[in-house]
Amino acid sequence: MRGMPELRTEVQFLKGIGPRVAETLAAKGIHSLEDLLYYLPFRYEDRINPRTIEQLQPGEMASVIAEVRTSGLFKTRRMPIFEMTAGQGRSKLKCLWFRGGYLEGKFQPGALVALYGKVEASTFGRGGLQMLQPQFEILHEPSEDGASESDEQRHFESLETGRIVPIYEATGKLNAKWFRRTIRTALEQLPREVPDAIPAAIRGRIGLIPRAEAFWQVHWPDAGESFSALQAAATPAHQRLIFEELFFLELGLELKRRKARLQPGIAFEIHSRVRAALKRVLPFHPTKAQKKVLKEIADDMAHNSPMRRLLQGDVGSGKTIVAFEAATVAMENGYQVAMMAPTEILATQHYLTARRILEPAGYRVALLTGSLNQASKRSVRGHVARGTAQMVIGTHALLEEKVEFERLGLVIVDEQHRFGVMQRMKLMRKNAEVQPDVLVMTATPIPRTLALTLYGDLDVSVIDELPPGRTPVSTRVVRDERTAEVWEFVRRIVTSGAQAYVVYPVIEESEEKETGLKAAIQMYDTLRRDVFPECKLGLLHGRISADEKDEIMRRFKNGELQILVATTVIEVGVDVPNASVMVIEHAERFGLSQMHQLRGRIGRGSTKSYCILMTGGKVSEEAQQRLDTMIRTADGFEIAEKDLELRGPGEFFGTKQTGMPSLRVANLIRDRKLLELAKREARALVDGSAGEISQEEKRAAVQYLKAHWNRRYGLVEIG
Ligand code: ADP
Ligand code: MG
Repeated sequence: MRGMPELRTEVQFLKGIGPRVAETLAAKGIHSLEDLLYYLPFRYEDRINPRTIEQLQPGEMASVIAEVRTSGLFKTRRMPIFEMTAGQGRSKLKCLWFRGGYLEGKFQPGALVALYGKVEASTFGRGGLQMLQPQFEILHEPSEDGASESDEQRHFESLETGRIVPIYEATGKLNAKWFRRTIRTALEQLPREVPDAIPAAIRGRIGLIPRAEAFWQVHWPDAGESFSALQAAATPAHQRLIFEELFFLELGLELKRRKARLQPGIAFEIHSRVRAALKRVLPFHPTKAQKKVLKEIADDMAHNSPMRRLLQGDVGSGKTIVAFEAATVAMENGYQVAMMAPTEILATQHYLTARRILEPAGYRVALLTGSLNQASKRSVRGHVARGTAQMVIGTHALLEEKVEFERLGLVIVDEQHRFGVMQRMKLMRKNAEVQPDVLVMTATPIPRTLALTLYGDLDVSVIDELPPGRTPVSTRVVRDERTAEVWEFVRRIVTSGAQAYVVYPVIEESEEKETGLKAAIQMYDTLRRDVFPECKLGLLHGRISADEKDEIMRRFKNGELQILVATTVIEVGVDVPNASVMVIEHAERFGLSQMHQLRGRIGRGSTKSYCILMTGGKVSEEAQQRLDTMIRTADGFEIAEKDLELRGPGEFFGTKQTGMPSLRVANLIRDRKLLELAKREARALVDGSAGEISQEEKRAAVQYLKAHWNRRYGLVEIG
């Protein structure tokens, strides 16, 4: 590397990085020096005062530096185990790796090795301590001739001990030590001051330390830094980098939102005739929350910029009628409405509700799903194209090229997390002249700031109240051994005229592997024949054809079936108020939000409802936390937060589907406070209310965003 590297310098031009290594790094999203500096240690090791083996206590997580004594592979009946004994003077620590054949030849006697893992009392041999599968790092090979070491080697080796040491996630052949050295070298070449695109006023307000210092301190913290703050990413250096990432993310989203607002949309009129129609359609008194969101939606629709609104409301909060009211506004204005649901069952359910509510008011509604035969599909498409169908409800089938609208004005997407952002866009383009309004409905309660970030371009409305007349669902956890009692209970409820769901985690028992899981198909037979021979049962799962599903759902809905045995296909949106019991078998296998969604299927009528979570087999600690949460609360927001906490946002939302950016230093849950600050500052920067910021600074921030963050977050076409 000649001259000083800049943040945008590609890694392959850095010292010690050739094309092959650059490729490995690229796979990790590391392209530039800046990317490399953002590759933060995932933990730190306190090697300032290395522990002696003598000091170790069984049960603790600890790191030790010791010398390799002996090592070798021995075979047990079940698997090969690799054993390495490390020592300090006369004390010894045994380390074991199951199926550790790959470690043969790794540990030279006399090498200095850092070990990190859980300390246990030795299970093999007499007494002593051991670590199972510790993470390790060879710090120093036993060299025959110490004099051959270069100065550089000595420099690095002095960094490996006697200080707080950063530990990086290894990738390919690049281990923690490699990252340590490479990043250290890069830092040493970094100019003392690196450009900072966050305007000075904001830096001052938040109290951010300079960038270069932050890079140094996250990788090579001073000896005085709080070890726990480091582990929690709470040091000033961490906070600075986290804020920076969130700030530019929010800035990008804010610009995007603004741009969307500038596009021409439809200004729907809401005059007295429309109001009368809205009243006519409404089958009940809306709740306060429904009124509030209806007003927000109506205001959006009346405005001539396109509506981009997320309607969030827990299961059963009454989103459907809100959507139909919005549809009424559009139809009264002479526009068409498209409503997309993730499954045929849901689309059909919405269609039936729409026929009940909207058709008597004179609107013509059509259903378009994949399972219609070609002739019916063609006929529906014809009505949509001519405008004789004012509202069309359907599944993905709506997205097909061949579906053309006469005059599309409003797009409603139910249960957003099942669709991608891309699909939403596709529907929006079905009107070439103006941008139709878009209303996205989701039953996944997401904390507000998070929602604003995840659905960056959407405004958010929340229905935070359930319709009246609901009785809370009583939830219990019951062990498998008491199955007979549970079935007795179900029998009593069903005999009294109510209905029940029994849910299983899998469709069918697996032939190739013994999972020990009860499955819907087999249990349907058992329940029907042996347990409830006097009752009418139905079976519903993902492999049943759409027609059959609809038929079964219809029969359950009108009471012909008393017990519905199912998998999670019933999870979303299905509405049968007379169902008042839900039994979930192997509840320990279900996700928290999933159970909450399932439970939302009951407690929709006025009779008391019961949710019975049955557990068989081993319940992990995390599963126990999920079950406890289900018992403790029915509040969707609380449950969502717990779920996020347990699973992390990536899993929770399915990163790919929502198009959620993968953040490199920030964590949307852990860093919620900073996210809020970042959002406020980004907004102030864009709308100019952060007065002390010059136009130049503003331009610089946007430039920087485009150059450095855009590719990563895909916040394309800004400005
Ligand atoms: P979700 O938000 O889960 O889509 P739905 O729109 O399906 O909820 O509403 C759940 C049930 O509550 C439906 O049976 C609906 O008719 C009923 N409902 C909705 N709003 C009200 C209200 N304001 N008063 C009485 N019942 C309502
Ligand atoms: Mg719904």
